[in-house]
Amino acid sequence: MTRHFEYMLAAPREDFYDITSQVREAVRTSGIESGIAVVFCPHTTAGITINENADPDVVRDLLFALGKTYPDRPEFRHGEGNSAAHLKASVIGSSVTVIVEDGRLALGTWQGIYFCEFDPPRKRKFFVKVMGRNAQAKL
Ligand code: ZN
Repeated sequence: MTRHFEYMLAAPREDFYDITSQVREAVRTSGIESGIAVVFCPHTTAGITINENADPDVVRDLLFALGKTYPDRPEFRHGEGNSAAHLKASVIGSSVTVIVEDGRLALGTWQGIYFCEFDPPRKRKFFVKVMGRNAQAKL
């Protein structure tokens, strides 16, 4: 069984937006008990990652380090002027896969799923695909 979900996100600033609750909702709505959830970002200057969601300073430090490591450079040729955002998006990646077991995301205690915006302000979307066996299915 496969279920597809689409979510909208307002991203007014460069930041990591916690989307864990939306992904949990997609898994709950899907009725899938055992399988995987793929969270995908269909944009070239944003990404998806998993990291700590307990101490907000972790996200602050990640944003600081990404900015220091991949600053805007005068040598960049891309006419839109947002090559640093494209770079950060490629480094972070466009998707994550999370195991679904007993109808729940198998995230660690301190893990959250983040939509990472690098070229604000934007109206964004992301997809959640949940695939697996539902409670009624025979083995
Ligand atoms: Zn661009």
